[in-house]
Amino acid sequence: MKYRKRLLVLDDEPDIGEFVRDVAIESGYDAMVSADPEMFPSVYTNDMDVVVLDLMMPGTDGIEIIRFLAECGSNSSIILISGYNAGVLHSAQELASEHGLHVIGTLTKPIRYVELEQLLETAPALITARRKSDPGLFEKPGIDEFIEALENGQIIPHYQPQLDFASRALIGVEALVRWEHPRWGVLPAGLVLDLAREADLLGELTTSVLNQSLIQCRKWQDAGLKTLVAINMSADIFKDLQIPKMLEDELYKHRLDPSQIILEVTESALMQELVKSLDTLTRLRMKGIALSIDDFGTGYSSLVQLHRIPFSEMKIDRSFVINALSDEEALAIVKITIMLGHELGMKVVAEGIENQRTWDLLLSLGCDAAQGYYIAKPMPGDELLMWARSHSAALI
Ligand code: C2E
Ligand code: MG
Ligand code: MG
Repeated sequence: MKYRKRLLVLDDEPDIGEFVRDVAIESGYDAMVSADPEMFPSVYTNDMDVVVLDLMMPGTDGIEIIRFLAECGSNSSIILISGYNAGVLHSAQELASEHGLHVIGTLTKPIRYVELEQLLETAPALITARRKSDPGLFEKPGIDEFIEALENGQIIPHYQPQLDFASRALIGVEALVRWEHPRWGVLPAGLVLDLAREADLLGELTTSVLNQSLIQCRKWQDAGLKTLVAINMSADIFKDLQIPKMLEDELYKHRLDPSQIILEVTESALMQELVKSLDTLTRLRMKGIALSIDDFGTGYSSLVQLHRIPFSEMKIDRSFVINALSDEEALAIVKITIMLGHELGMKVVAEGIENQRTWDLLLSLGCDAAQGYYIAKPMPGDELLMWARSHSAALI
């Protein structure tokens, strides 16, 4: 039995609820409609892959539902819809993200079939490969199980390709952590990171992903694929003054050049720890290790801070890239980020390229590199080798 993603739509207008449900069913979902916000808490369950939420309903507003979902610790992908203008949708999206919810897109009424269909297609399954033999409901693993999994090698990186816009050549991969869970299949980064935080093992997790990525990078190179690996660092790590030396030693051990890794740190996390981290960041750059500022546009960096930290790359947050075609404000942020990155001498990478039109748009805006489902989803290391071979064969 193939795992079917589950969707719940909450909209007081029955026509819209049914429309969303029908599109979802055509996209391979099991879908349910609720028209009554009061009933929502009794129909919602935490194994729902996608929740589509109308922000404007009589008697309640979507914000209350957002609060409810946050209190449940929801991992569902959320799509917000509204008849309001884009500004209100933005604020609601921001609020939901601050609550730790995963908003994968916003839609303004009237909803366009194609836009909804695309969002549904890209929504990750909460449990991407629930075991055939085990149709039981997903239960979030606990900390003890996580600690064991980290020791047993179940927590591993998958790798997502990055292409040069101009040549379409593979220039690097980003390592993204996954839990290959024996019972639930491949579990997403968000869940792994939550558990690592709860267990106070974020540093250990990051070091494990880093080590595994270096081993993988060496294997690829031995098989004829020389590529750069981007690794997501928790901002805390840069407070450790030993990190530059440790990295240098690890690179030496795996016979890799410093130019073969790039360390990504999210804008919002880094800015809180900036002063303590500057020493480490500067020494890393002096050792030839590149730094990338991730999810740019979602944090609060000032221009002075950007100037002080020796970044060589800027990654535009995927929320802006995904919405750039449909939302003028997102487009403006994308344009300004590309300009700013280039003015500061950085390479600009767009993540969240999901279709050809977004590719064409970012290419025309002068963005340097692309990452997104349109190119490939994150995949295990051995699959990446095969992917890279067929990709380079197709380019010739
Ligand atoms: P990130 O570093 O910004 O990584 C990009 C995220 O966007 C990944 O989510 C990737 O799967 C997703 N993505 C890529 N292309 C598309 C697309 O076309 N459409 C959509 N909708 N999404 C796309 P993922 O793997 O769930 O990771 C989420 C975040 O978790 C990462 O965001 C990163 O901040 C963090 N993370 C992942 N692995 C690690 C790790 O090993 N250590 C640390 N500290 N953080 C990690
Ligand atoms: Mg990243
Ligand atoms: Mg990012």
